[in-house]
Formats: sequence, C-alpha cells, structure tokens
Amino acid sequence: MFPTERMRRLRKSESMRDLVSETQISKQKLIMPVFVDENLKEPKKIDTMPGILRLPLGALEEYFGRLEDLGLRSVLLFGIPKSKDPAGTSAYDPEGVVQKALHICDESSRLISIADLCLCEYTDHGHCGLIQNGKVDNDSTLETYGKIATSYAEAGADMVAPSGMMDGQVAAIRSALDAANFRDTVIMAYSAKYSSYLYGPFRDAAESTPKFSDRKSYQMDFRNSREALREVELDEVEGADIVMVKPGLFYLDIVSQVRKMTKKPLAVYSVSAEYTMIKNAVDLALAQKEIINEAIYAPFRAGADMLITYFAEFYAENF
Ligand SMILES: [Zn+2]
Repeated sequence: MFPTERMRRLRKSESMRDLVSETQISKQKLIMPVFVDENLKEPKKIDTMPGILRLPLGALEEYFGRLEDLGLRSVLLFGIPKSKDPAGTSAYDPEGVVQKALHICDESSRLISIADLCLCEYTDHGHCGLIQNGKVDNDSTLETYGKIATSYAEAGADMVAPSGMMDGQVAAIRSALDAANFRDTVIMAYSAKYSSYLYGPFRDAAESTPKFSDRKSYQMDFRNSREALREVELDEVEGADIVMVKPGLFYLDIVSQVRKMTKKPLAVYSVSAEYTMIKNAVDLALAQKEIINEAIYAPFRAGADMLITYFAEFYAENF
C-alpha cells in the first residue's frame, strides 16, 4: 500500500532496471526477410519499403555474409521468378529462383534458411492456390504445396514456411516431406495469418497482387481472435514445429492469446506496412533507433519467441 509500495525503487538506475527487466531480445531471435529476383542483374530499391532491396541471385552470397557478420542467424526467402503460369510451376522447378537461393545460402553461409512456401509469386493470377471454376481450390493446391516443399528441402532449406492459408496445408506438407525422406525439415506454419491491407508494400516488393478478387476466402478476418486460436490448434495437430501470427504490431493481442495456449515456439511476422510506417515516421528525424528498438521489443513482450522483421538488419547493425 502506498507509500510502502513504491514502484520507482526498482527504476532508479539503469543497472536496476536491467536487473528486473522482464523481456530480453537478441539478434539471434530476429529473422530477416530477403527478396530474391531472378530478373535482376543489380539490386533494386523497393519504392514502398525505403531501405529494403530486391536482390539478384548474384548478390546473395555477399549479402548473406554481411548478415552473418552482423550476428543474424536466419533468413526468410521470397522469390520473384522469371516466368509465371496459372499453376505456378516455377515454384517447384529445381532450377527455380528460391531453389537457387537456398543452394547459395547452404554453400556460402551457416544461416538458417527458411523458404516461404506459397503460390502467389508464381501464378499469373497472383492467388495463393490453384484456380478451379473461378475459385481458389483447396485440395488440388495442397498437392502442389507438397511438391514445392519437397523441392525446397532438396535444395537445402532448413525450414519451409507455408503461408497460403489452405486448410490442411501443414499435414499435406509434412506427409510429402516425410515420404521424400526429409523428416528433419522444419515446418514454420503461418497459422494465424490475417487478410490485411498492411501487406501492401510487400505485394509491390514481391509482385504478388491478385489479378482478380482478394484473399479473404482463405486468409483470416481481422475482426476475429478465437478463430486464430483454432487455426493454431489445427496446425499443432497437423505437425507444425513453429506456429506464427501475422501481422505483428497490430495483432499483439493475438500474440498474447496464442502464447497462453501453445507450448510450441511462436513466431511473429511484423509486416511490410508496419515497417514502412515506422520507417517513414523515424525518418522525420524522430528518435530513430529508440522507436525501432521499442517496436522490436513489443512482440517479444507479448510472448513471441522469434520475430520476422524488415528491421532485423538495421537492429543488428545498431545494437
Ligand atoms: Zn500467397
């Protein structure tokens, strides 16, 4: 009771504050997304994501080395292929862009390579699944996801990260991987992935905007939270090794709820518009490092075990 209980006692010096701090983060907990574009010769700026580049395959070895030198340990790879078709066949081409990037990562670095697994960057219609009768068809898409997973594992992926939000995708991928003897390939499941306008800059970066309709028939409705817990439960049962909440900063209530219900490692993806909003704000000469630091702490305080963030490289450079 006041004044015997004085909260300020434990805040009086930096050492005291550090001693009682409840959340610690480290570079090893951050995952840097990397856009690899097969059509490029030189790195190219992404207008909607200041400071982030699309990289040609030829620039990867050096970039992976840089991330490693900075103390980062993991990358999440997205590919922009040369060719797109209705079935997204370039996603499981052994000579595909992500497959090549995985080989480079495997041979030139000790980074954990995580391959985002979806069809939207590889289909000419831009949807995350195959189209039948004008709709995204769940079960035929699963077969293709299995092929992509096996192809990524063959190319050396440490983890595959299915992001398409098809029902049963984790089980389908696990069984495809096991059947091909890739029992140790980890599945990081985009379990609670919301349909969000915060993905806007990413679609620009990865050229993955759907040509018709939207993704609301498979991604989650942002008005829901119990549904997120069901999605996570299903992915646990299907064999996900790591579960995820995406987006991050707008969805910390979901992170906190998922933390309470799962014993699995929990990843959070702080998405492109979250990055761009903060970046634009801090570039107006606000306290840049401090705001970014706070934004990186928030998902961990909410219960994340790891964070996918476009600030990973910046953080590793500055902290
Ligand atoms: Zn997708």
